[in-house]
Amino acid sequence: MKVKIDADLCTACELCTGQVPEVFEMGDEVAEVITPDVPAEFEDAVEEAAADCPVDAIIVS
Ligand code: SF4
Repeated sequence: MKVKIDADLCTACELCTGQVPEVFEMGDEVAEVITPDVPAEFEDAVEEAAADCPVDAIIVS
């Protein structure tokens, strides 16, 4: 699984960085992905974060 964040949509609400700090971190203005190739043990959490993101800025593929 791969994950990325649409920086144009992210509102820096810090939800994803709180939910899965192993994968997401706050950058200067928006959240950023630390591990674009999501480790298997965090796939469920990343799916959940993508579903919970209030502006659908987290894109999984
Ligand atoms: S949950 Fe969505 S809007 Fe909030 S910081 Fe993460 S990517 Fe940005």
